Amino acid sequence: MEQPNLLNEHNKQEYPPMHTAEHILNATMVRTFGCPRSKNAHIERKKSKCDYELTTAPTEEQLQEVEAKMNEVIARHLPVSIEFMTREEAARSVDLSKLPEEVSKTLRIVKIGDYDACACIGTHVSNTAEIGTFRITTHSYADGILRLRFKLA
Ligand SMILES: [Zn+2]
Repeated sequence: MEQPNLLNEHNKQEYPPMHTAEHILNATMVRTFGCPRSKNAHIERKKSKCDYELTTAPTEEQLQEVEAKMNEVIARHLPVSIEFMTREEAARSVDLSKLPEEVSKTLRIVKIGDYDACACIGTHVSNTAEIGTFRITTHSYADGILRLRFKLA
């Protein structure tokens, strides 16, 4: 099989539960607001942040819904699986807009149950049961960017 390219400059030291939560958060934000996945994320063991492009500021209720949805998905104990597929196959079910054009024909797709699928070379937990409880700690909105800070407990 063709060797998959590095899909982005992934930090190999990323804490797998937090990084997997980032995938679920991206899917939840896309589903809730119709926004793109985060283009700017900073993932650490104790706390992380993700930025999202939103046309209007979210309400407190919407952010509470995001947090509740995160914990509902985590509590489903979804398996995290890896599949290798061609770019053409992947394009049917995965948003590849963040991938550079020159990326190889074979992609590593990370699936979180039937909730999310994303091309990624990072390290993930094998089941969402390992993530713990997700909590948004602070949020701010300015100039079309929502900045969410969150942690796991
Ligand atoms: Zn990943």
